[in-house]
Amino acid sequence: MSQDILGIHHVTAIADDPQRNVDFYTAVLGLRLVKLTVNFDDPRSYHLYYGDKLGHPGTLLTFFAWPGVPKGRQGTGQVTVTSFSIPQGSIDYWIERLSQQGVSFTGPASRFDETVLSLQDPDGLVIELVAHPQAELRPAWAEGPVPAEYAMRGLHTVTLSEDGYERTAKLLTDTLGFRLLGQENNVFRYEVAEGGPSAYVDVRCAPGLRRGHVASGTVHHVAWRTPTDERQQAWRGTLAGLDLNVTPVLDRKYFHSIYFREPGGILFEIATDPPGFTVDEPVEQLGTHLELPAWLEPQREELAQVLPALRLPAAGTGKSAAS
Ligand code: ZN
Repeated sequence: MSQDILGIHHVTAIADDPQRNVDFYTAVLGLRLVKLTVNFDDPRSYHLYYGDKLGHPGTLLTFFAWPGVPKGRQGTGQVTVTSFSIPQGSIDYWIERLSQQGVSFTGPASRFDETVLSLQDPDGLVIELVAHPQAELRPAWAEGPVPAEYAMRGLHTVTLSEDGYERTAKLLTDTLGFRLLGQENNVFRYEVAEGGPSAYVDVRCAPGLRRGHVASGTVHHVAWRTPTDERQQAWRGTLAGLDLNVTPVLDRKYFHSIYFREPGGILFEIATDPPGFTVDEPVEQLGTHLELPAWLEPQREELAQVLPALRLPAAGTGKSAAS
């Protein structure tokens, strides 16, 4: 299908304390903070974006940080696992690093011919590190605390946990252009477009699992990539025709977005690749200053007073400026 989705654009999750979140994803996992901005729908709170050097679509994990937000519950109707690629030879490094940093993990385990370490972030969000051949060819952030040869290489898969998978599977295959790639136990793996890591989605059929509750430590939504605004408009038309209650196009400054719920209840977004994260700051300075969309600039002073002060990683090192 000519208007296929290209893969995962980003995953957005919910965190409690923004400082703890920044410290974990930059200083422990070694991702780059590529944008420090506010939640455009709730500008008195941060929206934190992590990714590779440029924040390419397919490498991005983002957080709404809401101090004091209740703890969420993992369950069905949710993205329950967010998986990242790591180079095949880096498993021992990561076992050592997580142990040294006091991060508990499980594994290594085998799945779909890959080797997987599973861990939780400080809010309980489940993250996997998936070692596989040729991961080293994917982009990374090489100037953080993790040496380039071991650094995380962008998103690999998201796991959708569902009561029943059929209607979700049908949306993925019949509408969004995914193909069934394989099955292991109750997990069905699909891929889209050129396939491979960041173009996978795993659907876990778990009728015995409790319904999830989206709050801290859970994923808020997953976004899929579309190359242009024209394709996005086409998607809007397709989804509206399927009665999926799709939103109008929303300007997220770094990409344009439409949202809808898939039949299992998970919030999906379709986001454009352009314009990207260098639209308001140069590559070297990504994530080093609070950036606001033009319509919030008049409130900058007021917002700066409400938002908690953050110690940011020093530009170009990924290491906390305070450490
Ligand atoms: Zn999003």
